[in-house]
Amino acid sequence: MIIGKSKKEIEKMRASGKLVGQVLSHLRSLVEPGISTIEIDKVAEKMIRDAGALPTFKGYNGFPYSICASVNEQVVHGFPSGYKLKDGDIFSIDCGATLEGFVGDTATTVPVGKVDEERLKLIRIAEECLDLAIEQCRPGNHLGDIGWAVQHHAETNGYSVVRDYVGHGIGRRMHEDPQIPNYGKPGLGPKIKAGYVFAVEPMVNKGTHFTKVLSDGWTVVTMDGQPSAHVEHTIAITEEGPEVLTRVASTQGSTPYSVACN
Ligand code: MG
Ligand code: MG
Repeated sequence: MIIGKSKKEIEKMRASGKLVGQVLSHLRSLVEPGISTIEIDKVAEKMIRDAGALPTFKGYNGFPYSICASVNEQVVHGFPSGYKLKDGDIFSIDCGATLEGFVGDTATTVPVGKVDEERLKLIRIAEECLDLAIEQCRPGNHLGDIGWAVQHHAETNGYSVVRDYVGHGIGRRMHEDPQIPNYGKPGLGPKIKAGYVFAVEPMVNKGTHFTKVLSDGWTVVTMDGQPSAHVEHTIAITEEGPEVLTRVASTQGSTPYSVACN
């Protein structure tokens, strides 16, 4: 069942979204060759707790950290570790915060130091996929419109979209109905209504869309070892259209946004 939110509840989600957006923006600014991903996790946890919120991921189904830290061929759900980021890596950070009972969820993929053109393009296309998906988050559209926007843009550019993991409704719980795939057909699926809040999260791969999970039970990698980019925003559907709750200036940073979405 898709849980619609009242104006008051969306107001609260604005606050949790803003917080986690600010956290992610700060984490982005820390990314440089030589920093370990566990250091970034510690900063995230402190910032979230100092703001009176909880790191939603920590303990979620047993996940041990406050961020997911996924490098290069890692798609999502990577463990922060002593691994030191190096020139040429692309680093995806996914973060969630629960403030006054409501969750915000956002992710970005950051180039580390000097990154080759191909990987920069992968990130840019993933960001464009997210922008195009956000544009579809309007009353009267269908869930399939969101998935199609992502799939069409990724595949047109020669990339694939992950099928095994999807976006989701979000509210008092991080994962609510509906599931929001990054693939689909226009006009199909449930109708989008004002008051819904979605976490839309394209996962775009350079090679195959197939993935596997490493022996830690969490880290998802591409089956062919080629790089993957992951970006995510929490979006409230209003009568006027999409309102991106987790966007703060410079949160999604390697390329400026080209599509205006509220
Ligand atoms: Mg997330
Ligand atoms: Mg999510």
